[in-house]
Amino acid sequence: MRYYSTNDKTAFVSLREAVLKGLPDDNGLFMPESIPNIPEDVQRQFPFWNLTEIASYVSQRFLDGDLPDSVIREIAEGAINFDAPLVQLDDNLHVLELFHGPTLAFKDFGARFMARLMAWLVRGDNQKLTILVATSGDTGGAVASGFLGLEGIEVIILYPSGKVSPLQEKQLTTFGQNITALEIEGNFDDCQHLVKQAFLDKDLQSQCRLTSANSINISRLIPQTFYYFHAATRPQLKKKPAVFSVPSGNFGNLCAGLIAQRMGAPIAHFIASTNVNDVVPEYLKTGQFQSRKSIATISNAMDVGNPSNFWRMASLYDQDLERMRKDISGYAFSDEATRAAMQEIFRRYQYLIDPHGAVGYLGWKAYSAEIQHDIQGIVVETAHPAKFVEVVEETLHMDLEIPRQLKEAADKPKLSIKLPAVFEALKAHLLHKK
Ligand SMILES: *Cc1c(COP(=O)(O)O)cnc(C)c1O
Repeated sequence: MRYYSTNDKTAFVSLREAVLKGLPDDNGLFMPESIPNIPEDVQRQFPFWNLTEIASYVSQRFLDGDLPDSVIREIAEGAINFDAPLVQLDDNLHVLELFHGPTLAFKDFGARFMARLMAWLVRGDNQKLTILVATSGDTGGAVASGFLGLEGIEVIILYPSGKVSPLQEKQLTTFGQNITALEIEGNFDDCQHLVKQAFLDKDLQSQCRLTSANSINISRLIPQTFYYFHAATRPQLKKKPAVFSVPSGNFGNLCAGLIAQRMGAPIAHFIASTNVNDVVPEYLKTGQFQSRKSIATISNAMDVGNPSNFWRMASLYDQDLERMRKDISGYAFSDEATRAAMQEIFRRYQYLIDPHGAVGYLGWKAYSAEIQHDIQGIVVETAHPAKFVEVVEETLHMDLEIPRQLKEAADKPKLSIKLPAVFEALKAHLLHKK
């Protein structure tokens, strides 16, 4: 399969280039030349397959011809070795729990798959691949955990000193091995700026083989299609049309859902649920895409003012707003509404939901109030509530049980290197490490 840039549909690159480069030179985003179809007779068997089996099959369809079949299977089975259960709350309401991976957030799907694919693509190369990631919290942990121990790859995480929660910091800094955490004396924007400078520095590029691992990498989207197929074909939905409400920030997760739908997954509609960073719901309403500075909220992994995957969505619909509206409805909610939803879900269903999932629930409620037909709502729950322990405890007035994975990280010593937010310091570190 070849990949084009959303800014130029006539210039193609190989899978290898799309994955290892991450971003095309023209500042667009890579998209697959064609979206493979999953035949109906195969999908009829999906209700009897587990997530790993579906992951393996769908990966074959995407990567066929680029990697040997046995390698594709190994990558999919190694990456997706945990479940994504669909929990029923009501006759027509379900929660899709995407937090059963090692870092308890859905980013594990993308990060673990990308890591294994990259490791295979660089196998046997004599120059080490260095992955640079700037993180404000969740992404760094998932990427570090995904790449831990993989040969030929070094991961450098930049995070803002004192600006991530103590538990998040432990999730970023306790790995060791091929993972280095740089504690930058600055904010998240400084971290991101340092990473950008590194990619622009010709001298550094000539000495180190650098790549990025953020959510714009196409290899993070492919594995996010698996759980849409799995969820939409569960027997408990009784073959009613599935509507997914996706709590969204950078819109990678929703974009993967759209790709799954194009591949033939039985999905009736998507709900783009956001916090007050509502650039995409605004676009669906007005036809104007206006990026702006992000606003801090309690669902902070969705505090994105310029959602980059929007351009992939636009490309899927050939920039046709009317067509996009047939598949996607958008709604935005305040922190106050989010907290009230967390309380309501707990009272009604005795279900603990995190602030991101609560935004998804609100989107489902808003959408289902507007339509008549009989559908099944699936609220995508993107993180374990314990990842946002402070907000959840204060909103629900209770003590949360902290899962084993988080406790283990909390007990390990922090291993980080403090650096000023100065490019020369980062460059010296990278050159020293090489
Ligand atoms: C990253 C993240 C999101 C947003 O996902 P996008 O693909 O960027 O839209 C939502 N919830 C949680 C918990 C996340 O970590």
